[in-house]
Amino acid sequence: MKKEKLNYFRSRLKQMEEELVKSLDQSNYTTDPISPDSSLGRLTRLEAMQSQQMSFEARRRQNKRLKSIRKALELIESGKYGVCIKCDKKIPEGRLESMPEARICVDCAPR
Ligand SMILES: [Zn+2]
Repeated sequence: MKKEKLNYFRSRLKQMEEELVKSLDQSNYTTDPISPDSSLGRLTRLEAMQSQQMSFEARRRQNKRLKSIRKALELIESGKYGVCIKCDKKIPEGRLESMPEARICVDCAPR
């Protein structure tokens, strides 16, 4: 891959990393356990727990994505970016364009 392209994907990944770190920071505040003696009504409390569960799921996904992004950045540094880590084939730039953190090709991606 050309150096300009690598720089382009690196800056996109860095930006994605920054945004995820920021949003994970902000959602920290919503993970406090909901206290049982809270003044909220029963239904409201149930809703609060459900929305906490959802934000927990969202955080889990964001953390996973952040890991992939950081691994992709490592691949850029080691000169192996854009090559499938499973089959060693080139990952098409179109795929990287829509998913810069991709480390495996479409054929190897779990379906
Ligand atoms: Zn592959």
